Order: sequence, then structure tokens, then C-alpha cells
Amino acid sequence: MLDPDLINDLRNVRDVLVFTGAGISAESGIPTFRDRMTGLWVHTDPMEIATPMAFRRNPQRVWDWHVHLADAVRVALPNAGHLAIAKLEQRGVKVTVITQNIDNLHQRAGSRNVVELHGNLLRLKPFIDEDAAFAVKQPPVICPLCGGHAAWDTCDPCANHADLAAIQLCSGPVPHCPCCGSLLRPDIVWFGEMLAPEAIETAWNAVESCELLISVGASLEVEPAASLPWCALDKGAWVIEVNPSPTELARYCHASIAASAADVLPGLLDQVAIGSMLDDPLNTFKKWFIAK
Ligand code: NAD
Ligand code: ZN
Repeated sequence: MLDPDLINDLRNVRDVLVFTGAGISAESGIPTFRDRMTGLWVHTDPMEIATPMAFRRNPQRVWDWHVHLADAVRVALPNAGHLAIAKLEQRGVKVTVITQNIDNLHQRAGSRNVVELHGNLLRLKPFIDEDAAFAVKQPPVICPLCGGHAAWDTCDPCANHADLAAIQLCSGPVPHCPCCGSLLRPDIVWFGEMLAPEAIETAWNAVESCELLISVGASLEVEPAASLPWCALDKGAWVIEVNPSPTELARYCHASIAASAADVLPGLLDQVAIGSMLDDPLNTFKKWFIAK
């Protein structure tokens, strides 16, 4: 499937970045947004409902839509693709997973070094209405419990962190912060929102240091994430794409594998970093230490 010379080079890499999009979770039963004519998204366009404006207009409708998505995420299991990435890390290779997914499946597969560019659906945070915040002259007061924009006279001094942690993305009315009353929302990046600067910085650092970047199940249509594989190519890393519908990157990267993540990743990742593991003295020591 791959050029034998490339396979030989992959044996010696020591630092791997796996960049994933919604496609890697498709075989776990969570359809990509681009497949919106099927499955979960058949009645609603995610680009219209997963936005701050939609939440401001109708919080309950947006909440209910995310509950539906969270139900699918909770019953999904990591597939062979997620598991193969975690296994590579367990072999002692430095692996950074930069994901656009919000489904927690990399962590559930066992990956420990995961950067969630778009947040995590199963966490909540206060809804901060940016338009309202800019409209008032004085700076907002920050709620000591949820970090939302509060008015002191509505804050409840008896509320504690356990009250907030007990609230989950489940069916029912949209919950409020027990201290300030702010509406709560999923801690994900909606369309039109900024990515967390720390996540972007970590992602760029991982691109800088990696020797191999594998882009899996990402359509590469949304910036700044879409630039990560291109920057890795520019700085001389090996770049491989795994996507049944190859993107523009396929014409420029070292290999494009037009197949599903669960089919390809186990075999592909088994060939990565085999040589570097054999001649890394620290790794030999670690194996010896674990054997003892
Ligand atoms: P996207 O831009 O990552 O596109 C999905 C890509 O996956 C497409 O290029 C498609 O060809 C590819 N693909 C489909 N099946 C595949 C398979 N079996 N193996 C490998 N690749 C496959 O994602 P999107 O659907 O446009 O979603 C936009 C954003 O919405 C995402 O970045 C994410 O934040 C969010 N989202 C997350 C999830 C999730 O967490 N599982 C699911 C849907 C959407
Ligand atoms: Zn609050």
C-alpha cells in the first residue's frame, strides 16, 4: 500500500502528531457533520444550530440538539482507529493527538496527550453573551463559581462547586449556574467562535516538533486547524492523509490513503517508529525497568 522507502523512513520517527477530524469517529457511530443528509443531522443543519446566535435566540432548542448529540457520544465506543493511536503511545513513542472532535473517544481509547481544539461536549460552561457584554459600559462582574458574567445581587453565596459539577448535558430545561443564574452551555467551540489560544499554541508547538503528521478524517476546510498539515509539510515532516475522500493535501503529502480510519490505522501505525524504539537507550531501560 505504501512506498517501501517511505515505510523505511517511518520506522525511524520518534515524534508523531495525529491530527483528527470527525471522520475518525464515523465508524464509532457518530456521523460527520458533512454527512448531514443522514443519521443524526437529517433534520437540522449543524451550522445553523451550533452557534452563539442560535443559543441566544432559542437556548432550549440548541440545548436539546446537543443532548441528542451527547446521547450518541455516550453510547459510542472507540474504534480500531482510536485504539491504534493509543497503542502507538503505549509502545513508548511520543504521540500528540490534536483533535477537532468533541466526543472524548481518544481519551476513552487510552490516549493521554490529547489537545481538544473544539472543546468537549460532556463539559459545561456559562453562556457569555458577547453582544450584551459589549453593549454595557462597565466591565462585567465575573461569577466566582462558573466564571460567567454575573450581577452581585443575584449571586447566591451558598452555592458551591459540587452543585455546578452535578449539572450535566441531559434532557430537560436548560440549566442555570446555581450561583449567578447564567445559562449553561456545552464547552465546545461553536461555528463563528474563537479557538482557545492555549490549544492553538500547543498545536503549533506539536507541529514544530513532529517528524510525522498523520491527518485522519478531517476535511481541512476550517482554519486554523486546516493549516496544521501544510505547516508540517513546509517544515519537512512526513505527512500522510487517511480519508476515504482525499482532500487537496493528498496531492502534496507523502502518502494519501483513500480508506477508512479503522481499516488503515492499525496496520499503518504498527509500522511507525519500530526502528527508533529499538535503538533508543532510554526505551530499552524503561522496558528493562518495567520487566523488573
Ligand atoms: P470534518 O471537517 O472533520 O470532515 C469529516 C471528514 O471525515 C471528511 O473529509 C470525510 O471524508 C472524512 N471521513 C468520513 N468517514 C471517514 C472514515 N471512516 N475514516 C476517515 N475519514 C472519514 O468534520 P465535519 O463533519 O465537517 O465537522 C465539523 C466540526 O464539527 C468538527 O471539526 C468537529 O468539531 C465537529 N464534529 C465533531 C464530531 C465528533 O466529535 N465525533 C462529529 C461531527 C462534527
Ligand atoms: Zn455563575
